[in-house]
Amino acid sequence: MNKKCICQETQHHFLNRAFDCLKLQEAQQTLLLSSFREMRITVPVTLRHNGENKLHTFQGYRVQHNHARGPFKGGLRFHIDVNMGEIRALAQLMTWKTALVDIPFGGAKGGIAVDPKHLNDTEREELSKRFCQKMAPIIGVHDDILAPDIGTNPQVMAWMLDEYSKNHGFRTAIVTGKPVELGGCAGRLEATGYGVAYLADKAAAEMSLIPEQSRVVIHGFGNVGSHAAIGLANKGYKIIALSGSQGGVFSEQGISVAVALAHVRETGGLSGLVGTSPVSNTELLGLSCEILIPAALEASITCDNAEAIQAKLIVEAANMPITHQADEQLQQRGVVIVPDLLANVGGVLVSYYEWVQNLQQFPWDRETVLKRLENRLFHAYQTVGALAQERQVDRRTAAYELAIGRVNQAMQLRGF
Ligand code: NAD
Repeated sequence: MNKKCICQETQHHFLNRAFDCLKLQEAQQTLLLSSFREMRITVPVTLRHNGENKLHTFQGYRVQHNHARGPFKGGLRFHIDVNMGEIRALAQLMTWKTALVDIPFGGAKGGIAVDPKHLNDTEREELSKRFCQKMAPIIGVHDDILAPDIGTNPQVMAWMLDEYSKNHGFRTAIVTGKPVELGGCAGRLEATGYGVAYLADKAAAEMSLIPEQSRVVIHGFGNVGSHAAIGLANKGYKIIALSGSQGGVFSEQGISVAVALAHVRETGGLSGLVGTSPVSNTELLGLSCEILIPAALEASITCDNAEAIQAKLIVEAANMPITHQADEQLQQRGVVIVPDLLANVGGVLVSYYEWVQNLQQFPWDRETVLKRLENRLFHAYQTVGALAQERQVDRRTAAYELAIGRVNQAMQLRGF
């Protein structure tokens, strides 16, 4: 089975468990799972190839899953494998995340099937602006707000903001994750990893793990993984292994995250980091440690490698890094898991803060942003923990139950 099918199966499994807890009728389940609107567009861009201009077309998508609790909200992915099925599943996940942290948004996701590395800046700008032009009828600061995701960045958001503003006036709130100079939010870049570290620390404290005696393994040293590593190192945890797609590095004595980041900047990877020995990603996942942070891809932990995992606590920084069968195996062995729905929600929380600041034209400083992020995360963490205890279920089921219950209630109140 390919990764996409595994993820869809895993998501269905987790959702069905929550549907059972909520005792929802079949028609309610169908409504909750259905997209409000799915838009597919063709985006034309003139590409320069071998000194000649040639018109190319790309497929673009926007899925607006649910807006019972507020405007649609979700990222925009530029990746060659983007397709409607993937975007639909990710749009749905956004609905549950925004509901879980109780922010007034629904869920959406979009993307273009393109390898952005094959385009120059001018071509990427044209692609981004054309996409925004064609999406203009269904987006808006109180309708659907865009954000970066894999393959997109603050610059892409700035181009989209410019395009949208041509016909609607200067509307910074149409996109989040934009450059700070154009109304972006201080702290947005590190928000997801910062939140992961914050919740890992809370969960570790509940398990009586002492930071200085707790070894942390980070699978995927990108944006989220590196900021989670910084956050945990700042709290005193010992980071013993880090990895990228080409493999990882290990040191029982601990790795300086600042030195690792400088090494990646200079050499483009972790290989050869001074004071460390190389490990494969398979070996890294099975290292003896207290905390494991999967921060790379979906379905990294499956039935094939779950048995080898020695961590006592897993905090899911990536989306769907553990398949449902592996999840069951790990839970049976008493491994504590903080699920993705809760663990990586820092990014969308700070996106919400950015939108609020844009609407009010009143920027906050980084300390205010991070303090508010911590407060909301803590509240969500406590609420999920209390529900899990009350129902005698795991945190993931409780998180889904809470999120789906809120969306269902809003739909009923509005008479959807
Ligand atoms: P990124 O591209 O910055 O980093 C991904 C990292 O994973 C890179 O270091 C890459 O080398 C590594 N990687 C790729 N394949 C790997 C493999 N097979 N084994 C080990 N490492 C591998 O992406 P990111 O923004 O850090 O996102 C990471 C995960 O977190 C994704 O699942 C993403 O959907 C999820 N997420 C991100 C955010 C956010 O705000 N960026 C928010 C929520 C969830």
